[in-house]
Amino acid sequence: MPHYDLVIVGTGSGNSILDPRFADWKTAIVEKGVFGGTCLNVGCIPTKMFVHTADVAAAPAAGARLGVDLRLEGVRWRDVRDRIFGRIDPIAEGGRRYRKEHEDNAAVTVYEGQGRFTGHKELTVSLADGRPPETLTADRFVLAAGGRSVLPDVPGLADVPHHTSDTVMRIDELPERMVILGSGFVAAEFAHVFASFGVRVTIVARSGALLRAEDVDVSTRFTELAARRFDVRLNRTTVGARRTPDGGVALDLAGPDGAESVEGDLLLVATGRRPNSDLLDVAATGVTTLPSGHVVVDDHQRTVVDGIYALGDISSAFELKHVANHESRVVQHNLLHPDEPIAADHRFVPHAVFSSPQVASVGLTEQQARERGVPYVSATQDYAGIAYGWAMEDSTGFAKLLADPATGLLLGAHIIGPQASTLIQPLIQAMSFSLDARTMARGQYWIHPAMPELVENALLNLPLN
Ligand SMILES: Cc1cc2nc3c(=O)[nH]c(=O)nc-3n(C[C@H](O)[C@H](O)[C@H](O)COP(=O)(O)OP(=O)(O)OC[C@H]3O[C@@H](n4cnc5c(N)ncnc54)[C@H](O)[C@@H]3O)c2cc1C
Repeated sequence: MPHYDLVIVGTGSGNSILDPRFADWKTAIVEKGVFGGTCLNVGCIPTKMFVHTADVAAAPAAGARLGVDLRLEGVRWRDVRDRIFGRIDPIAEGGRRYRKEHEDNAAVTVYEGQGRFTGHKELTVSLADGRPPETLTADRFVLAAGGRSVLPDVPGLADVPHHTSDTVMRIDELPERMVILGSGFVAAEFAHVFASFGVRVTIVARSGALLRAEDVDVSTRFTELAARRFDVRLNRTTVGARRTPDGGVALDLAGPDGAESVEGDLLLVATGRRPNSDLLDVAATGVTTLPSGHVVVDDHQRTVVDGIYALGDISSAFELKHVANHESRVVQHNLLHPDEPIAADHRFVPHAVFSSPQVASVGLTEQQARERGVPYVSATQDYAGIAYGWAMEDSTGFAKLLADPATGLLLGAHIIGPQASTLIQPLIQAMSFSLDARTMARGQYWIHPAMPELVENALLNLPLN
């Protein structure tokens, strides 16, 4: 039974831990799927390549308002798909070859197959090439095995043809009609992508709003705008799924107006993900999990078992790539310097939704501030009220800030509108480095008439002394 100094399970953010400082360590990496993990292969990167393409396809609709008549002649779906994955797939394969063949990795053994703990610090790998399973032991493990899409418990759903974010980007033909079950960021991004490509999109949401984890004003505005573009069914319980005679799929719904059904040629299920801790059977090595399936870690990304660390989606409720990367740097340091461990910084974790409009957020929402009894003042600034937004004739976007009335420090920032994911960054910086709103607004120049004036004016609107 081979014994290692360190075994890493998963090649998403886990793959960036090994560098020349580990050259003297006997190490192994275990990967059951494609190298590079979710973000590279089926997550952030391909989705944003599709979103960018969708933004281009949506230009005629935006241009007409400004007096520029463009015509979308068509979307060559297979060309779009093959261009995107023609760029991504070689990166994944290059990463695999680098680990397996490059001399820098002489001390790294790659196991391609699914790992499962079978005892204390003992992992058995079912090898993908059909060779007998191998069992490894190690002094240290890093659990970086991510998560996976899950299907909600709807009668018939598992038996009808359906896609998840893992498969929908590789379909051969665009459907005429798509039903998206789910109301979070994955649903919002794919709705924009496919609608921009000419697909008629229906969104089915259990709750009364889309993106309901966002600040209530942002979620409300996003839901209003989405309803203008897609067939949005809110407050619907999906009671069944079935095939239709024309080869499509129907969802049977119960809602405020009684029973109804929606039909599509393709069903995308985007109702959530769960950590892979169960498939890895982390309990067999003594690692504990929350009811959500997330591995329990301390501030230093250490599990309850000495020498076993976890990072990214398997242990983090944020389920964001920048968080997984940050935690991987923390784990890397703590493996190298166990006597001087550093803590992960989860104080101000931002996120963005790359739909149309974009949404970006950091810190407390107004409803969280209220629920937690945190004193706050808030202010909003419409895009229409700053020069660049006015020039764009944007009538729907805004920035909303929450600040501590005593210190002027920002508590939360929420933007819906063009380039929200970029505009939020100075606010993340201010929160991370404790820059108060007044100093931030008046302690620097803001380029006129550039979009960041949205941030400047939102800061100045805060009712602070
Ligand atoms: C559609 C979509 C869009 C997204 N967009 C964004 C975005 O715009 N921005 C953002 O920040 N985040 C985004 N995310 C989330 C982001 O992709 C994840 O947070 C991030 O990839 C998690 O990294 P990780 O290293 O924890 O896990 P992963 O990247 O999932 O890596 C885990 C690896 O472990 C392997 N593995 C799992 N179990 C085993 C096992 N038992 N044995 C061996 N190997 C195993 C898997 O095959 C996988 O390669 C998106 C996710 C999705 C699904």
